[in-house]
Amino acid sequence: MIAIVHHPAYVAPAPARSTYRWNKNGLIRDLLIAEGARVAWHTPEPMPRAWLEAVHDPDYVAEVLEARVPAMKTRRIGFPVTPAVAARAAVVPGGTWLAAHLALRHGFAANTAGGSHHALADTGAGYCVFNDLALAAVRLVEEGTVDRLAVVDCDVHQGDGTAALLAGRPGIATYSIHADKNFPARKARSTLDVGLADGLGDEAYLATLEDTLAPFLAEYRPQLILYQAGVDPFAGDRLGRLSLTLDGLVRRERLVARLARGVPLASTVGGGYGDDALEIARRHVTAILTLGEAMIPAR
Ligand SMILES: [Zn+2]
Repeated sequence: MIAIVHHPAYVAPAPARSTYRWNKNGLIRDLLIAEGARVAWHTPEPMPRAWLEAVHDPDYVAEVLEARVPAMKTRRIGFPVTPAVAARAAVVPGGTWLAAHLALRHGFAANTAGGSHHALADTGAGYCVFNDLALAAVRLVEEGTVDRLAVVDCDVHQGDGTAALLAGRPGIATYSIHADKNFPARKARSTLDVGLADGLGDEAYLATLEDTLAPFLAEYRPQLILYQAGVDPFAGDRLGRLSLTLDGLVRRERLVARLARGVPLASTVGGGYGDDALEIARRHVTAILTLGEAMIPAR
């Protein structure tokens, strides 16, 4: 069985004037429900305010939780933070933290949201409000669950917020492989950044991933991997600049699972953009099921 983390608040109603498509998480949930007994469901709690403030500026945490984010930050995020969006923002990092604990127990677990890797200390950005990856990473080390963990980010956009928030944190290493010319224009510095040329296809992408992620993991020897499994490197993605096929994405997840070499891995959804929300959700669910098959030994 694949441990899946989901909360009803993930499926927030779309705020007015939103360019972000909001039905993705509900469709991911529905596609996973259709998998029946293959999936075991877990419900997270909202992340406590003190944990949020361990990574984000307390003033920004208050702005979000009280749904009074200033206009400039709202523009950077890309949608208004309504009370429903605020509730979602607090529960998604709780979901990534829970998925990490489930991964330590079962080898793999997936949060059906998260991967909000652009959020910074004092503002959200790029459709991200709170940085669930950084929040979970810091909490897991601070509470003594693990001494060393790695955030591995395969979204087509650089994990700039994660890199900035986790820089210098003991026991935490960050890896990002992304289209170099894509958003964000100004990159942060991860422990290891792999910037790719536009239009890269399956073979070159997978070879570069293996050549860079294998030594990264060998050097940092994490006890846990938090994975940003964005499917926006897909050729048809509205915001991607790479040319992976669906088969390439499946092979990517198998490769990440193989390179993890038995280290528990918790995945988050990350980016995936296009007009057909069901197709996007299918890509995310394919990634989750592929990881689950590859990481959890058959019995
Ligand atoms: Zn992305």
